[in-house]
Amino acid sequence: MNKGLLLGLERFLLRIPRPIWQQEVARSAQSAKKSLLFITADHHKVRDNEALTFTIRTECAHCGKEICIEMDSELHFSVSDPGARPLVFVPMVDFSSLEDASIIDAF
Ligand SMILES: [Zn+2]
Repeated sequence: MNKGLLLGLERFLLRIPRPIWQQEVARSAQSAKKSLLFITADHHKVRDNEALTFTIRTECAHCGKEICIEMDSELHFSVSDPGARPLVFVPMVDFSSLEDASIIDAF
């Protein structure tokens, strides 16, 4: 098979030779692969809608007491110290329209 690719520009059709468009597709694939190197196993779990739990270890901004918060992908959370009542919020971010590099930049 030695088919070129037809590229439409206004009323013209340009034939792109097979080696040229294959090279461009391969270059784009490599670029996409490099851009996804940051993805961890947890990222894949989120993408695949698998259950995910994580722990936040922090401290009270007022008294400095350590706080351990466990949260799951359903946004349920528990606090290690039953007496602690930290203010926890989850920003509702539409990731499909987020143009910033991170949600921190969006705020
Ligand atoms: Zn405190």
